[in-house]
Amino acid sequence: MKAHDGMYIDGEWRPAAGTDAIAVVNPADEQVIAHVPAGTADDVDAAVRAARGALPAWAATPPAERAARITALRDVLVARKDEIAETVTSELGSPLKLSQAVHVGAPIAVAGSYAELAASYAFEEKVGNSTVHLEPVGVVGAITPWNYPLHQIVAKVAPALAAGCTVVLKPAEDTPLTAQLFAEAVHEAGVPAGVFNLVTGLGPVAGQALAGHEGVDLVSFTGSTAVGRQIGATAGAAVKRVALELGGKSANVILPSADLAKAVNVGVANVMSNSGQTCSAWTRMLVHDSQYDEAVALAAEAAAKYGERIGPVVNAKQQQRVRSYIEKGVAEGARLVAGGPEAPRDQGYFVSPTVFADVTPEMTIAQEEIFGPVLSILRYEDESDALRIANGTVYGLAGAVWAGEATEAVAFARRLDTGQVDINGGRFNPLAPFGGYKQSGVGRELGSHGLSEYLQTKSLQF
Ligand code: NAP
Ligand code: MG
Repeated sequence: MKAHDGMYIDGEWRPAAGTDAIAVVNPADEQVIAHVPAGTADDVDAAVRAARGALPAWAATPPAERAARITALRDVLVARKDEIAETVTSELGSPLKLSQAVHVGAPIAVAGSYAELAASYAFEEKVGNSTVHLEPVGVVGAITPWNYPLHQIVAKVAPALAAGCTVVLKPAEDTPLTAQLFAEAVHEAGVPAGVFNLVTGLGPVAGQALAGHEGVDLVSFTGSTAVGRQIGATAGAAVKRVALELGGKSANVILPSADLAKAVNVGVANVMSNSGQTCSAWTRMLVHDSQYDEAVALAAEAAAKYGERIGPVVNAKQQQRVRSYIEKGVAEGARLVAGGPEAPRDQGYFVSPTVFADVTPEMTIAQEEIFGPVLSILRYEDESDALRIANGTVYGLAGAVWAGEATEAVAFARRLDTGQVDINGGRFNPLAPFGGYKQSGVGRELGSHGLSEYLQTKSLQF
């Protein structure tokens, strides 16, 4: 795999300040495919300076011109989509079809949406005797995870550029090659030097330096709740804006009037996709007592079909972590009906598609984010019981409700403490705000709500 041995700072690839490197591993065969530099606080400092230097001119660039650059960026992503998909597959391990459809398809759609929004958004509004200007927040420190490596970068960088902000990105150590390709695309799109900068490196080194840098005005983070909490505290102490997109433990609530087979099959597919490494995955399936056994049989049958189809998880540590959760599920008394803790292959970080029945709400596997292909099926007695179980975790990122009539599902969805709900299998919408209630995060990404995270208001009175 092609890799740059420097950082993309101020419009060019520059040598890193230090000599440490990160080995990039293909999780499907455990082979090292490339090395990238491990950035230090000095690299972060250089990148933040470049972003600050570029801020006044980019903030003053007319929105139509910013939109033109984002359109050009979208077009480069389209032109290079095969190369990007192959890169995601090499460093994340996702099957090529998934990389093409989701890992590249979704960010292209999101980049396109921000090209349109930048051109049409009202960056000025009148309120009584005031004119309110929506101005860029400033320099953005973006820290992204590996599970949707390009999507999570685009979901931060596209709205930041649309708003007139400049950016320093620290991508996940597991997926830096996709981030380097993105930097190439930004360059090819003619985005001015310093507007976007990339520092590859480790979270506790480069990530922490970026989150704590006094030249950063807004930290936008996606990843674990543990790190998010720390970043939120650092940002709070410095009176800095912060956006946190954290974990989830979403419920898939199947009401008795639903098409049970469809709800179960879509529910299993939702969890197994991307090997379960999706923060919004519906990892808890809630089924009425009267349909429980049928649902469990359907889910076990559906999960078995994914055995050969899903990719590995991202690294050995995640594989071990997921396997420990499966062992914990067994130890706490849940019943395995598909998969299990044994690795299904000798090579690669694979985990068997796993389904647990007889899961009760207080079990670890029903409370904690596993981030692997593991589904828990819980039983409820009536609607209020279902609601109590669905809302009974510290998370609130996503969810699903199935019922015979959409109105019945909507009535239930309105009582869920969660940021988004798919009704009877509703499709992903790149314009709908995405983000969490409770400990799933602070702030929203995507669409106009995502754009407003990168704006601050200035009111002029007349
Ligand atoms: P993570 O450690 O939170 O990583 C997310 C990003 O933050 C990465 O770029 C990471 O760098 C960086 N980071 C780590 N420590 C940091 C620090 N002290 N200061 C600043 N930045 C820091 O997540 P992970 O280790 O990759 O995965 C662990 C668990 O997090 C998963 O099992 C899953 O439960 C959850 N997770 C959630 C999401 C989500 O979309 N909500 C995504 C990924 C993971 P490095 O890559 O160098 O660690
Ligand atoms: Mg980490």
